[in-house]
Amino acid sequence: MKKIVCALLVGMMLTASACSFQVRTNIETGDGAGSQTGEQTAGQTNSRETIYQVALLQSLTQGYYDGIITVSELKKHGDTGIGTFEGVNGEMVVLEGKVYQALGDGTVQEAAESETVPFSNVTFFESDVAADLTNIDSMASLKTTLDKTVQDNGKNMFYMVKIGGTFDKMFVRSELKQNKPYRSLDKALETDQREFSYENIAGTIVGLYCPDYMGGLNAPGWHFHFISDDRTKGGHILDLSFREAKAELDMTPHFDIQLSDDTNFQKMELAKDVDAAIKKVETNE
Ligand SMILES: [Zn+2]
Repeated sequence: MKKIVCALLVGMMLTASACSFQVRTNIETGDGAGSQTGEQTAGQTNSRETIYQVALLQSLTQGYYDGIITVSELKKHGDTGIGTFEGVNGEMVVLEGKVYQALGDGTVQEAAESETVPFSNVTFFESDVAADLTNIDSMASLKTTLDKTVQDNGKNMFYMVKIGGTFDKMFVRSELKQNKPYRSLDKALETDQREFSYENIAGTIVGLYCPDYMGGLNAPGWHFHFISDDRTKGGHILDLSFREAKAELDMTPHFDIQLSDDTNFQKMELAKDVDAAIKKVETNE
């Protein structure tokens, strides 16, 4: 295992000097889903060290819920991550190459390959850094503790994190599928958010850390989703507590974004400041 980690770190040092920022659209196909983005232009090594993002958190927050790629396509870009589905039909957790859909009724299903995705972040997970977490009594304490690890390892990288354990408290939300015309996400959640509270639940947290310069494309800081070990419960985490767990972090130097050539997407004003709405939808505040 140690050998693998060392090789990975060397790989990162080599690639870090040429951090890539790629923008893609599905213009080749002119098709909302099923675009030809499976071809890795970044090269094999880089593609595994890439945070692949579908659209922007800002487009989702403004109410662009149309799927841009299929679940099948998303899986070509990572085995671990978070996101949502067309019509914000549930919270996405990608773990060990499987894409789970935590629905607004509190159930979880494996997403169909043909299901489509309006927003997601995935990567091929390889643990670079581990951190022991103890006595975490809130989201704030989880974020503060993980922030220390990020500060120690480089705050301007992306990190995907997995935290497996038994959680004393796990408070999650999902939402009901939206129908057109779509409302903005904060408005949709005002009526259609559903919350679920679990105690003593074994499972895995999958989270993404975005550096602080990512405010225009995503949200700086942490965003966590949860799935239970028995794959029957999950969602976007609003609060939690646990006594101890181990976090594994994948430090990732490349970023790749998949946009849409759809007319409605192209008409959006994506520089519009939706920070307050993002904070509200992410944290319930
Ligand atoms: Zn979420």
